[in-house]
Amino acid sequence: MIWPQRSLLTGREVAGPGALEPDLWAKLHFISDPLCARCGAPFEIAVDEGQVCGACLADPPAYDRARAALEYGEVSRELVLALKYQGRRDGLDLLAGWMAGAGAGLLADAHLIVPVPLHYFRLLRRGFNQSVWLAAALARSNAARSSGARLAVDVLKRTRATPIQGGLSAAGRRRNVQGAFRVRRSREGLVKDQKILLVDDVLTTGATVEARSRALRRAGASCVDVLTLARVAAPRTLPI
Ligand SMILES: [Zn+2]
Repeated sequence: MIWPQRSLLTGREVAGPGALEPDLWAKLHFISDPLCARCGAPFEIAVDEGQVCGACLADPPAYDRARAALEYGEVSRELVLALKYQGRRDGLDLLAGWMAGAGAGLLADAHLIVPVPLHYFRLLRRGFNQSVWLAAALARSNAARSSGARLAVDVLKRTRATPIQGGLSAAGRRRNVQGAFRVRRSREGLVKDQKILLVDDVLTTGATVEARSRALRRAGASCVDVLTLARVAAPRTLPI
């Protein structure tokens, strides 16, 4: 039996493989080359392979590479919210497929696929962690199967709930998340000398993701890459 395909956003029946209405689909911006080789920020003009942006040159991020499938915009935001607050799981394989495409090189190198944690109280309130869902869907993808990358949940621990980042300066954001994450003691052996692929729904300022990357490095990870469904298109903000 073939079920009619429903729009991931409106629940209406849609034709074709997109799982979104054509007018919404047209508003999705998939990120493609040219990109900063480190942070994955899109460049306006063609560059040599391996080129990094000014922000990454001046202040290299704590992670090795970050990639995302979509620019964070009107429709991708709705996709993220549907996942996060409505718990829509039916589009997970599709979203993970987009992520696997954007992060093919990262997945090929990864040993462990690690979702970012929610603070315990947020997890209790919401009942699920959408990053775990995305990471699990990625681990099921053909790309992960052929690279042998395995899903490892509960690796990172939030040591405290951080206040909302909005409205803080770049330096303030860094301070806000300093020491907010660590690798669980029981998982340290798993992480040591391994290449980690951190998975989240959105990459925003980078301050949080850098704090997580530093926690993984402190536990001995040999490489930390970051793969998200969406990212803000703007380049990394430098501390002032
Ligand atoms: Zn960069």
